[in-house]
Amino acid sequence: MARIIRLVENAHLEKAPVDRLADQVAGIFVPVVLVIAALTGFFWWYSGASANEILSYTVAVLVIACPCALGLATPIAIMVGTGTGAQHGILFRNAPALEAAHGLDTIIMDKTGTLTEGRPKVTQILTVDADSSTFAEAEVLRFAAAVEQGSEHPLGRAVVAEAEKQNLTANLTANLTLPEISGFEAKTGFGVKAVCNGNLILVGNPALMHAENVFSEVPENLEKQIFSGSTPIYVAVDGRLIGVICLADEARPESKAAVRKFQELGLELVMLTGDQQSSAEAVAVKTGIAKFHAGVLPEEKAEIVKQYQAQGARVGMIGDGINDAPALAQADVGIAMGSGSDVAMETSDVVLMKNDLRHVSDALMLSRATLRNIRQNLFWAFGYNVIGIPIAAGLLVPLGGPALHPMLAAGAMAFSSVSVVMNSLRLRGFSFFKS
Ligand SMILES: [Mg+2]
Repeated sequence: MARIIRLVENAHLEKAPVDRLADQVAGIFVPVVLVIAALTGFFWWYSGASANEILSYTVAVLVIACPCALGLATPIAIMVGTGTGAQHGILFRNAPALEAAHGLDTIIMDKTGTLTEGRPKVTQILTVDADSSTFAEAEVLRFAAAVEQGSEHPLGRAVVAEAEKQNLTANLTANLTLPEISGFEAKTGFGVKAVCNGNLILVGNPALMHAENVFSEVPENLEKQIFSGSTPIYVAVDGRLIGVICLADEARPESKAAVRKFQELGLELVMLTGDQQSSAEAVAVKTGIAKFHAGVLPEEKAEIVKQYQAQGARVGMIGDGINDAPALAQADVGIAMGSGSDVAMETSDVVLMKNDLRHVSDALMLSRATLRNIRQNLFWAFGYNVIGIPIAAGLLVPLGGPALHPMLAAGAMAFSSVSVVMNSLRLRGFSFFKS
């Protein structure tokens, strides 16, 4: 915990401050306008205008040049952009995150809980042909579920959940095949064992089966049938193997579509996982991700993000667990699943409240739209001033043109702010991938 927190803090310290274009522009713009106003007054005084006229021109310049639209341009767009995102379950935790999201070119993703549900599920039940009889798949599951009812292991709970789903647990008590178990014993790292109607039932990994003399090695024909990437648990009754239940943490149904969308956007995709190669590969193949690193330790995740950044990549990291937190903080934009741990959400810049990975591409598109909107706002805010100032200064008067009354200048100035606000409100019509 302490090490992860330290990594998170360091990553925060290393973050570059975000430059604000409008601030830079305003920093130059304001003194320039003051000089122009002074020059205008001096010019009209020099050409013998009345005090009233001198004051009128000078004030018109100051009023029309008021950079309030310029000051509004960025915050209003960010406010509408983040608000629209939040309405659809995309929570930008700060304005720099919204700004940074548009420039991402690499997406690094955690596997468990991010691309996958994060909970193992029964994916396959295999039965074993024996000399006397073969148990049906349902029976294999029923035996396993009866014993696993006392287990707190995630795999055990998944077996019971599957049995409940198939409505077998109800039959369990009804048909009395396995009325009650006794002598339940959980062997950590191996499996569980219990006695049922005088039958000794074993549910666990090959090591347990070996220790209990069921088999010394997994039968080859059985091993071939097991999907790669899944975790098999073996079921034996009275020292005889009756079947295998395979469990896997399946990819979320929307993960594949999300990956395809990332590819359409031209993003480089990388998957990171602490899990072994085979389960990483299974998820990568299923979701269409070509590049992945398996067996990655939590601190290595942040290190990998750093490596990509060192190569000039702008990295968006998506994760859910406490082990992803350092990488989320290190990334240019950290994106956490709403179902994830509090630490992950706390260190991230964007939270996906609906746990839908497709919202990541939405977040990037929304960021791009917001940045585009800011540029339009700056253009309009600035355009008003560029056109308005010479007219307000009375430049057209010697050429026989009109002068701009300070009152009209005030109206134009207000209108430029209104146009900037109206332009930003258009962001509310941003179309989401799925809402
Ligand atoms: Mg995870």
